[in-house]
Amino acid sequence: MSKTASPDPVPPPGRTAAPVAPQDAAALAGAVRRGDRRALARAITLIESTRADHRATADALLEALLPHTGNSVRIGISGVPGVGKSTFIEAFGLHVIGLGHKVAVLAVDPSSQRTGGSILGDKTRMVDLSREPDAFIRPSPAGATLGGVARRTREAMLICEAAGFDVIVVETVGVGQSETAVADMVDLFMLLLLPAGGDELQGIKKGIVELADLVVVNKADGDLATTARHTVADYRHALALLRHGEWRVPVLSCSAVQKAGIDTVWTTIGEHRALTEANGQRASRRAEQARAWLWSEIRETLLDRFRAHPAVRAELPALEAGVTEGAVIPTAAARALLSRFLGDGA
Ligand code: GDP
Repeated sequence: MSKTASPDPVPPPGRTAAPVAPQDAAALAGAVRRGDRRALARAITLIESTRADHRATADALLEALLPHTGNSVRIGISGVPGVGKSTFIEAFGLHVIGLGHKVAVLAVDPSSQRTGGSILGDKTRMVDLSREPDAFIRPSPAGATLGGVARRTREAMLICEAAGFDVIVVETVGVGQSETAVADMVDLFMLLLLPAGGDELQGIKKGIVELADLVVVNKADGDLATTARHTVADYRHALALLRHGEWRVPVLSCSAVQKAGIDTVWTTIGEHRALTEANGQRASRRAEQARAWLWSEIRETLLDRFRAHPAVRAELPALEAGVTEGAVIPTAAARALLSRFLGDGA
């Protein structure tokens, strides 16, 4: 993490948050609201902690901040590694800061746990943006599951909103399931493409393009300008019928390095916002996301408790081995473990 350009204090991976007593939640919430950056970083570290006592404080903090959330444009950005996400987000962030906005960049990268190094967080990225007082950049939280990472990112988003950030960018790497999780927490999901052939040639997973509310072909410059024009035309043709409610998915192009076309992307995001606010689509999308978040919270919490249960921990390895060897039927093993967990003797 020390390699990231962000000046904000981020604890080393695996470390839990600095302890915050429950009565301090109100003070921390106040400091976050005043725009105190250290408080903001501490608040996010707190919600990322897995300690039960920290969780109680985190819940109190979020409750105190909740009335001050929701006033941002929530933008998801995805694309395969190398498409230019960090270059784009930096140019985009600087552009909207120039218009008077405050930008928070969060990342969802569940690979960081498995590989021990995050694709999105570890390299030096967005150096200029990270120097801006009106920007806040936070690498992906570590987490064993995508659900766990997504949960913390949603909460971090609320904290950033309460701190006065009115443009939130949630970045994810376009290689797996994380796009769906990100599309489920933002108002607008944007896919960055390379100037090249169709989805498969670009390494884009099936179904991801359909999630997009906005498609942008990056690197429309120099030798790639002509190919970029063709790519735009191809995707316009392919997505001609793709609508999300009344919104027709636009296909734009830009050059993140030359900072060209960034303004049009921002204007288009504004048009999406105006339309979806007027027709109620944004409110219903957020309501549906809140409901889905409730259920994923229930799922994640139950699974955490289940895994931590002493009897389950004692019997799980043998039963898991039995299942993988084909000696025990998975349904029977699951029932045995669940009855231990629930203590119902079923
Ligand atoms: P990420 O992995 O998606 O975050 O991609 P990066 O932002 O790190 O960019 C990958 C490479 O593409 C870098 O060498 C960038 O300089 C280059 N790149 C990014 N945007 C553009 C662009 O608009 N035009 C050109 N020609 N190169 C770009």
